[in-house]
Amino acid sequence: MASFKELIRQVKSEVREVSVEETGALAARGAAVVDVREADEWEKGHFPGAVFIPRGFLELRIEEKVKDKTRPIVVYCAGGTRSALAAKTLLDLGYSEVTSLAGGFTRWREAGQPVVVPRVLNAGQRERYSRHLRIPEVGEAGQARLLEAKVLLVGAGGLGCPAGLYLAAAGVGTLGIADFDVVDLSNLQRQVLHTAASVGRRKTESAAAALLALNPDVRVVRHDERLEARNVMGVIEPYDVIVDGSDNFTTKYLVNDAAVLAGKPSVYGSIFRFDGQATVFVPRQGPCYRCLFPEPTPPELAPSCDEAGVLGVLPGVVGLIQATEAVKLILGRGRSLAGRLLTFDALEMAFREYRVARDRDCAVCGERPTIRDVKDLEWSCHIGTTPREAATAGA
Ligand SMILES: [Zn+2]
Repeated sequence: MASFKELIRQVKSEVREVSVEETGALAARGAAVVDVREADEWEKGHFPGAVFIPRGFLELRIEEKVKDKTRPIVVYCAGGTRSALAAKTLLDLGYSEVTSLAGGFTRWREAGQPVVVPRVLNAGQRERYSRHLRIPEVGEAGQARLLEAKVLLVGAGGLGCPAGLYLAAAGVGTLGIADFDVVDLSNLQRQVLHTAASVGRRKTESAAAALLALNPDVRVVRHDERLEARNVMGVIEPYDVIVDGSDNFTTKYLVNDAAVLAGKPSVYGSIFRFDGQATVFVPRQGPCYRCLFPEPTPPELAPSCDEAGVLGVLPGVVGLIQATEAVKLILGRGRSLAGRLLTFDALEMAFREYRVARDRDCAVCGERPTIRDVKDLEWSCHIGTTPREAATAGA
């Protein structure tokens, strides 16, 4: 039987050790950097972009995390001993280019190299978000991203209410609500954040109370003002994603132009009677609202907000599609609706998808944009049907 010292000497003779500098260079060239320490060590800080597999789970999980056995791997632990043993295991499993960071993470940190300190969930959060933590595509890192994310809800109406409710439940850490309206009894048929007791109160106030009651992790920022050219850039500035639940052209064009100019993704939704539609606008990567609808529908062809009816459950469906897309954008997972317009016909219970392309001549995101600054359109409560008949309309 070899003693531990002899075993380590033997292992280190078989495993190539690399320096801090070599580790950085290997990572820059695409090597997988595998952290084999325990969770409490990982949580205090780790190599940026490292794959975390505690030593005890190495054999079980490595093939899922690093599929290509020819991809170079640098393994590290705190001081270089556990990583040498782990590297030997990986060589035995058939990985061909495995090295171990000499001196481990201690040396990496002492050398002043970049360190990521992950956000740690507290016990209550672990329980609250446990169904997220069980999904590998979300997990603790994804939940931390959600908690750090900032989403602006434009409108606390038919679309903003269900979207906000689920985004708060999911643990999106900051939710801004831009709305200048007060709750009306006729809103309660679909605007599920507001209650009978909220009638006459500001929608932002009523929505904030409901969201905080659901999830005290969430910070709600109220913007009690109509979005206009003078304030829109400032309002959207802190946010990562915009969920546009506005109910009129004036705001939709304004928010679109502001989002394109600020380079922020916005999730679009609209509803009319039994029809809804949704898509995602990612500036420079896909079309924007003006690419789809270059000009507002003439007022004589569009019903006004007061005339527009909507099935109460419809905004729930469309608002949750918007919330789903917002969560995917934050997590960086899946395929977004960018470049696809999804329409929903509640009477037929049918979803259809239309490809939508960027317009090179688009006034705001095209090759020669004519809109370089946000401007106020003439205020119009008109809502319009689209060329594809599923409509753009009111919350
Ligand atoms: Zn465009």
